Amino acid sequence: MAITACRSYEPGEIEAAVGRLLERLGGLAVTIRPGMRVALKPNLVMGKDPAAAVTTHPALVEAVAKTVIALGATPFIVDSPGGPSANAAGLRMVYKKTGMAAVAERLGIEVSYDTAEVEVPLTERSPLRKVSILKVLYEADAIINLPKIKTHAQTGYTGAVKNLYGAIPGMRKAEYHFRVQERKPFGELLVELNLALRPVLTVMDGVIGMEGDGPTAGEPKPFGYLLAARCPFTLDHYALSLIAVKDIEMDRVAQARGLVGPLLLLDDGETIEPVPFRPASHRRVNFVENHLPPFLARPISRSLRPLPAFDRDKCIGCRICLQSCPADALRMERIPQLDKDKCIGCLCCQEMCPERAVEVRQTGLSRLLFGSRR
Ligand code: SF4
Ligand code: SF4
Repeated sequence: MAITACRSYEPGEIEAAVGRLLERLGGLAVTIRPGMRVALKPNLVMGKDPAAAVTTHPALVEAVAKTVIALGATPFIVDSPGGPSANAAGLRMVYKKTGMAAVAERLGIEVSYDTAEVEVPLTERSPLRKVSILKVLYEADAIINLPKIKTHAQTGYTGAVKNLYGAIPGMRKAEYHFRVQERKPFGELLVELNLALRPVLTVMDGVIGMEGDGPTAGEPKPFGYLLAARCPFTLDHYALSLIAVKDIEMDRVAQARGLVGPLLLLDDGETIEPVPFRPASHRRVNFVENHLPPFLARPISRSLRPLPAFDRDKCIGCRICLQSCPADALRMERIPQLDKDKCIGCLCCQEMCPERAVEVRQTGLSRLLFGSRR
């Protein structure tokens, strides 16, 4: 597990920082060999300018791609944004706005528009025995995971492990959210996905992360580090300690399964300072799920789930939230109207809203038990 300071996205600084990380990890030549097709998987949750700190910065993707090219392999950039953007037109917009198309053009590499799926079996520990994954990603010779460090309204945190949920094509993400609504099984699913995809390397964009209501509606947070590891579980575990975010189910599952390795921190004597991130304002409290028997935990957890609220002034009526909702819990009038009985609190609507028009509200029971979080 390697870390190095990196204060800006200036290409020279990023390339030098990536070089230091790879040197500390012993280089990439062991895993990336000439002729390999190497999938670079950034976080491209939606089409946003890199300055918004929603997506992995293109300067990092470019620096890693250059390293792969120098080893004689062929990198390509691939992701499947959530909601309805996972078709060719949506992908074109996302690659352009996030700066990935420009990187690909400069380096003469591909961005992938291939949305074909392949069914991948998971182990009996997964709540779903098989999942559909982007075929082009699954069949790559190697995957390099390039997440962005962010807090997350639904899972509390998104980093290395959660970034590979993007390997699930477009609207299937919402389908799996619907089928796996509770936090612990969802954590198991994320861990299983990482075990199925086995990225050879993770390099995390931590120059500027996101705090608050990520992954798309939080605020940019200067962090000033790049992190890299061969094990995504170990990387996340350490990153969480640096940003002082606790109680993250995917990390808890990885620890319980013995997947978090011993922390051999390769920092070459650099001083590493923690940078606490403000957590998401309304996180579903998993105390209930972890401490009560299932017959009690399920109904109480449901009563505590966060509910979306739609801002009349910000909403432009684009309907992306309706198309992203796995529970069919929204209908459109002037602004989206919520059917509370159908809503599962997955917050896909908030994540995919391009106008930050979706706020998250606590239910009455949640306010009563835990107080107001705002
Ligand atoms: S809430 Fe957001 S995603 Fe939904 S219709 Fe309004 S602007 Fe579009
Ligand atoms: S309305 Fe409810 S179920 Fe639908 S996307 Fe939003 S939070 Fe999820």
